[in-house]
Amino acid sequence: MRFDVVTIFPEYLAVLDVSLLGRARREGLVDVHVHDLRDFTFDRHRTVDDTPYGGGAGMVMKPEPWALALEHVFAQAPADAGERPVLLVPTPSGERFSQGLARELAQREHVAIACGRYEGIDERVFGWAEELFEVRLVSLGDYVLNGGEVAALAMIEAVGRLVPGVVGNPASLVEESHEDGLLEYPVYTKPADWRGREVPPVLLSGDHGKVAAWRRAQQEERTRARRPDLWEALGRDG
Ligand code: SAM
Repeated sequence: MRFDVVTIFPEYLAVLDVSLLGRARREGLVDVHVHDLRDFTFDRHRTVDDTPYGGGAGMVMKPEPWALALEHVFAQAPADAGERPVLLVPTPSGERFSQGLARELAQREHVAIACGRYEGIDERVFGWAEELFEVRLVSLGDYVLNGGEVAALAMIEAVGRLVPGVVGNPASLVEESHEDGLLEYPVYTKPADWRGREVPPVLLSGDHGKVAAWRRAQQEERTRARRPDLWEALGRDG
């Protein structure tokens, strides 16, 4: 699977060389290419922003460097992709990024990510980009970041770890929070008694049925208490 990230801060993405994803990149399971938006400008100052039409605070990212950068990324599509690449546009006004969307994206061959800065990217870019990409405006959550790079990192990690082979034991992906609409159950390791705090006895019982039932009850209790929105979405009435 290939990711292309366009940003004015390519160095922000350097952490993708670390840990599981770094190994996946070295092993060729996940291919990440980072492009500097300023390489698609032609003036001495490598300008990517300008004042907003209609007035107001801040600057807006100019459309032309984005069009050139995205055309360049489109041309890098894997030869065997056979489908339009996805263009993710991180923005606080997009649909909420979710495990479901991560699963969907992990099936794709080519995902591009356009990292905005300032007040964001000229709106016309998104309609234009539909000619080449399947465009998804995606929010990490209901808060405002300085730029799309942190969102891009989160999305690449969430999607990349679902690519077969990236996480050593695929079973560990199945039992995680959000995989079945519930939060994960609490987890414990040795020692069984730590600073006077004991591991729940059922986990030491060796009875797999009882352990599974206890974990399921914990998942439900947690989800109801911490995320009533998820609980309701499951059609539970509390
Ligand atoms: N003026 C914009 C607004 O109010 O919607 C916010 C712009 S923000 C300062 C600059 C960039 O950060 C955005 O273009 C987007 O790329 C990124 N960003 C900020 N918050 C985000 C979020 N919650 N999810 C995804 N991307 C975000």
